Amino acid sequence: MSVDCSRSNVVVDAAGLFAGVNLSYPVVYTVEQVTEEVLDERSRRGVELALASGKLVVTQASENFRRRVMEVARKLGVLYELSKADLEVLALAYYVKERCGSAILYTDDTLVQNVAISLGIAIQGLKYPGRTRVRRYVYVCKACGYRSAKPGECPRCGNKLQLELST
Ligand SMILES: [Zn+2]
Repeated sequence: MSVDCSRSNVVVDAAGLFAGVNLSYPVVYTVEQVTEEVLDERSRRGVELALASGKLVVTQASENFRRRVMEVARKLGVLYELSKADLEVLALAYYVKERCGSAILYTDDTLVQNVAISLGIAIQGLKYPGRTRVRRYVYVCKACGYRSAKPGECPRCGNKLQLELST
């Protein structure tokens, strides 16, 4: 692992990279899957420059951090909504938090923010202020009210289940 707590405890997702968060810190951390989401040419060049100058470090958390993230995401009802990149960046932020005592995750994804808060990771929104309260979600059939922890079709009436805040 190439996380240096004395320099930074900041993790960014793709939105953080687009916003140039890395310019405000000596170094920020992200995962491979996030850099792969940066496709437009100007942003790619920015990412490559940051990587070359060591201001952006691409690394990965080990399996046990990933497992814990998935466990928390499942409990909150959002596991099936998270991409591979989301899970990896959360696992990395969780690793940084455990290793450095605290971590800041830059993301505008409210579901990612939700899991991060639940893991004790500080979040920082980019375009929008970040959430501060943990929320649970559930898949609901709008037609008959059937509720499920998994996405898909309603077993009672066949309508597509929709993610909703759980009350
Ligand atoms: Zn139904």
